Amino acid sequence: MAQPLARDVAEEIAKLHGVCIRPVALRRLDMTTGKSEVVDVPCGSPLESKCHPCAKRNRQLRMAQCREGWHLDEEPIITPDEATDGQRRLVEFRADMQAKRDAEEKAGGDTSDLDAVLTGLDIEINEAGMRGYVLGRTGSKRVRSTKRRQDAPDLPKRKMASTTLGRTFEAADGRTYRPSLFVTLTLPSYGKVMNGAPVDPDTYDYVRAARDALHFSKLVDRFVQNLRRVAGYDVQYFATVEPQKRLAPHLHMAVRGTLPRAEMKQIAAATYHQVWWPQADEARFEGDRLPIWNDGYVDPDTGEVLPTWDEALDQLGDEPMHVIRFGDQVDVKGVLAGSPDADQCIRYLSKYLTKSLGENLDGQAQRDHAARFMDALRYEPCSPTCPNWLRYGVQPKIAKPGMVPGCCRSKAHKPEHLGYAGRRVLVSRKWSNKTLAEHKQDRRTWVLEALGQADEPTDPHRYVWQPVRPGDPDVSPIGVRLLRSIAERQRWRAHLRRLEELSATPQAA
Ligand SMILES: [Zn+2]
Ligand SMILES: [Zn+2]
Repeated sequence: MAQPLARDVAEEIAKLHGVCIRPVALRRLDMTTGKSEVVDVPCGSPLESKCHPCAKRNRQLRMAQCREGWHLDEEPIITPDEATDGQRRLVEFRADMQAKRDAEEKAGGDTSDLDAVLTGLDIEINEAGMRGYVLGRTGSKRVRSTKRRQDAPDLPKRKMASTTLGRTFEAADGRTYRPSLFVTLTLPSYGKVMNGAPVDPDTYDYVRAARDALHFSKLVDRFVQNLRRVAGYDVQYFATVEPQKRLAPHLHMAVRGTLPRAEMKQIAAATYHQVWWPQADEARFEGDRLPIWNDGYVDPDTGEVLPTWDEALDQLGDEPMHVIRFGDQVDVKGVLAGSPDADQCIRYLSKYLTKSLGENLDGQAQRDHAARFMDALRYEPCSPTCPNWLRYGVQPKIAKPGMVPGCCRSKAHKPEHLGYAGRRVLVSRKWSNKTLAEHKQDRRTWVLEALGQADEPTDPHRYVWQPVRPGDPDVSPIGVRLLRSIAERQRWRAHLRRLEELSATPQAA
């Protein structure tokens, strides 16, 4: 009985101190000293955290990133440094571990240990000064038939200038103004809503709402493409995806540079995305009558082999399965560099970053609304590999035994994501000169400088990370580990405070 209580208390204190409450224990072998010890690394990857304190800390970093890029007056330099030998070795090691992990998964084994190692390696790789993730984008693109190419919308097109900076304006007093935009884009109406719940749930278009949420990120991509085409320069943006009260995702976007408001609205109205997938309106198999695995999925009654994903794509008709567009509500606001307005927008942009999309349901009506939305999402295919395709008589891409429609485990179907499984923060490549990991490094450097300690670059050869076996005697109970992190955080804070006091008092000598 004492154990869980102690854990709860430690967790509460950890939250107060901003310490990670879901640390991952990893064994770290120090190649210089030969010492092997178990250390805690913060949860998740450097770009996505799983606990509240980490999410809060990342929100601060995001705000710094947003501020730094919005009104750049010099072109960002983005030629990456050449990878050093050590960095290359780290990446190769990570690739090996990834292969091991994938083999383990294929064999149906437990991958949690190896996942933990990969997390550790990602941190290591980022600290070694490499940008982004090693894996990058995975998967190959299918070549679309020209018939199903996305049509170019009817929009003005300016000649492309190779700059990411917006134009400036010279005022009569000689001052230079650097205006930019803050844009809010919303999905269309699915039925009248009051206090975050439909007035008439029976006519509310849940299927459309579900499909729009699932494909929202594609629509945002299209919007950016169109925006750049119309603006005639390499427009940069920092955007966040947030839930509306009616539980639909919407987008706030800081845009570097400015365009006429009417043009922005025109772009939003002309932007759409077509989903070229098989139909998912009529269920062919449901209840107990589900396709059976026989070296591929077959009809349970006739034994006929269901079309594979690629076959189904080849048989598509002329109509897309879904077309997604923005709604009429487009909000465009002009913002000047360095104004209180700009600061307010940045706070607004990052306001909900620590909350999940499906959090904070308000009252019974909204909870019922969320439940109905989840129902609609349950059988909606979220991706080509979704088991739900079996319901509509198509074998999912990469079909394997044990797939059951309605039981997809991907993020999109979960109540905390509400159909939107993409990233919550979307930052264009040339926003600031830095990645989030580099902003993090900035803060670390600042603290170390304040403490009067030089920030030595991590020698990438120095540590080797290994998973911690269950029951490893070197891993203390979680409560103890949290208290240890809290104590460490307090030591740093106290040290910083002393330094601040020292610099505040007038020099005696
Ligand atoms: Zn954490
Ligand atoms: Zn799915």
